[in-house]
Amino acid sequence: MTDFGQSYATDAYIEREKYPVLISSFRRIDCVQSHMGHGNFNVLGFDEMLRYGRRYSSVGEFTQAEEMFLEEIFTTDAKRYGFMGKKVIEELTAPIPEKDRKKIGHTGHFLYRGESERLYKKLQQDLGTGIVLTSGIRSVVKQTHLFLAKSIQSEGNLSKASRSLSPPGHSYHGVGDFDVGKTGFGRKNFTQAFAETEEFRKLVDLGYVDIRYPRDNMLGVRYEPWHIKVV
Ligand SMILES: [Zn+2]
Repeated sequence: MTDFGQSYATDAYIEREKYPVLISSFRRIDCVQSHMGHGNFNVLGFDEMLRYGRRYSSVGEFTQAEEMFLEEIFTTDAKRYGFMGKKVIEELTAPIPEKDRKKIGHTGHFLYRGESERLYKKLQQDLGTGIVLTSGIRSVVKQTHLFLAKSIQSEGNLSKASRSLSPPGHSYHGVGDFDVGKTGFGRKNFTQAFAETEEFRKLVDLGYVDIRYPRDNMLGVRYEPWHIKVV
């Protein structure tokens, strides 16, 4: 898939009657994120999120329809809308225990202790401060938030959304992979422009780049040179 940003005749859309609950679920999750801050939201568990809604009236309790919708998005077979990548998290409510994760200073992101943390440290030793963590652990909640935002942007086209972002449960960010970018490069780190930087060339030369989803892969997933494969 080279033109992942396009719509195709065979694309699958969310049912029209579910669109309002897609919007309201997204808004409430978005509200949770603004309320608790981006950092901790990255590792927020599903049950914790529901409790958070109940606790803060400015967020408000998730309605039964919203809860059911979020469960459905998680359990629906993503192959139905063309995403052929593997499901790596089977349980919607699986938490990310505090003892297993480490907050990485000045980034607002977390990494799993062990292999991910070790690889990131090594990468920093080899490349210096020119390279920085741009996305670490993403809980199912975080991935759901991103996926719903993409789905709304794509006007309910789930196939199109899933071509540029893994559906909840399918992101390797949930199990150890992470993204890096060039310090100070901002959003351009998540574009092809990153692949043209000196930092990227060094990553390749030092053998860090082992692409999870290669260019023109048949799995319906975008090629992402900034993504570091750990698992
Ligand atoms: Zn990534």
